[in-house]
Amino acid sequence: MENRDILVSGGGIAGATLAYWLRRYGFRPTVVERAPAPRTGGHAVDIRGTARQVIERMGLVAEVRAARTSARGMAFVDATSRHVARMGLDTFGPSGGPVAEWTLLRTDLARVLYEAVREDVEYVFDNAVTEVDQDEDGVTVAFERGAPRRFDLLVGADGVRSAVRRLTFGPEDRYVRDLDSFIALFSLDWEADLDGWQLMYTVPGRQGRSGRTAALRPLADPGRALAGFFFRAPGLRFDRGDVLAQKREVASRFENSGWEVPGLLERIWDADDFYFDRVEQVHLDRWSTGRTVLVGDAAYCASPMSGIGTSLALVGAYVLAGELFRAGGDHRVAHAAYESGMREFAHRAQEFARTSGDGGLMPDSSVQMWLRNQSVRVLPHLPRRLVGRGLEKVADTVTLDDYAGPTPHHTHHP
Ligand SMILES: Cc1cc2nc3c(=O)[nH]c(=O)nc-3n(C[C@H](O)[C@H](O)[C@H](O)COP(=O)(O)OP(=O)(O)OC[C@H]3O[C@@H](n4cnc5c(N)ncnc54)[C@H](O)[C@@H]3O)c2cc1C
Repeated sequence: MENRDILVSGGGIAGATLAYWLRRYGFRPTVVERAPAPRTGGHAVDIRGTARQVIERMGLVAEVRAARTSARGMAFVDATSRHVARMGLDTFGPSGGPVAEWTLLRTDLARVLYEAVREDVEYVFDNAVTEVDQDEDGVTVAFERGAPRRFDLLVGADGVRSAVRRLTFGPEDRYVRDLDSFIALFSLDWEADLDGWQLMYTVPGRQGRSGRTAALRPLADPGRALAGFFFRAPGLRFDRGDVLAQKREVASRFENSGWEVPGLLERIWDADDFYFDRVEQVHLDRWSTGRTVLVGDAAYCASPMSGIGTSLALVGAYVLAGELFRAGGDHRVAHAAYESGMREFAHRAQEFARTSGDGGLMPDSSVQMWLRNQSVRVLPHLPRRLVGRGLEKVADTVTLDDYAGPTPHHTHHP
């Protein structure tokens, strides 16, 4: 097998999964992760469709299940927290609804994946790629810290703001597409029992101003919850480094809203895990150039609101590693097979996100909000064949190959 030494930039969902499978197939991956250590907190993600099989084939079902947030589904509430309309896990099946059966914090999933590879894969924390120089025989990579190193191949699994992508494909504005919305999130102590439901409180828009939604979802830790804020703001510019200004933006957008919003906003100022970003997609004509290839959000981010990004990252990493193995390490053959294997899934996921990604969270009027609630209300009463499988159908786009024959179960190490 050729091209055994592979640098993976980013030890998130795609990076750790890729490292696991590469190692299992006999490659020697090295992971460089910008964070100083595995992170905690953050947002929740879903594992859907064939991505569940990836977890099964890695023997990690028990670990994933143990880390799940308790989620029974999503409920739209009125100002008194009464459920006005809701979608339970049974509405679209275990992995098709807005909240999936396997929902857990991104950091918990990243930790489970990291635990599965840490003994067998070199992980370099607190460092990042700064320069990439590819030639016929390999890739020379320079780092923020330490001497340059030479690898056979380079993978950008470094998320939506991928450095590898910037260094090899050029500036972001060529392929990052703005969906005009924003998300803010932070975790907080929350004593009231949410009973497993993710609550969504929508303030409908009027007089040309679009609607907005505040949310609360339970976390695995009893007594803790995740607060969320969703709003549309085309063209809004913000400073990534100025967290206080971002908090002020959210506070002013949600000023004078009902429900629990005033209490949530009071606590925003102390939140140390506050997240704020524009909702974006990544569109590239090709995911590889020479000896470099992109996987996960770096290549095909569908938007944080799509509920499918994690499944894309898991399946994408599995397919890329498998194709490299099948091609005996020949990156030209493998990259092409990976692209053709994943294109349709990425396309369908992005289309789903673009056309229904805001999930009715920003209705322009009370009438629109009423219509949303009515359609959600009838869902459980319709025959399953009419409701469909929702996102699960998109998440099942790829049929996983068994690249190296049947995989042993109950193993935690590659
Ligand atoms: C607010 C929010 C909510 C979301 N909600 C959902 C959801 O409900 N359901 C769902 O399925 N998905 C959701 N997603 C999307 C999901 O988190 C991503 O699709 C998924 O994490 C993609 O995995 P990844 O490995 O490609 O990227 P990431 O998980 O982002 O991992 C990238 C890794 O690269 C590291 N990194 C970044 N830059 C560098 C660098 N220069 N050098 C080295 N390392 C670097 C990062 O620290 C990180 O560890 C959400 C995303 C966000 C932001």
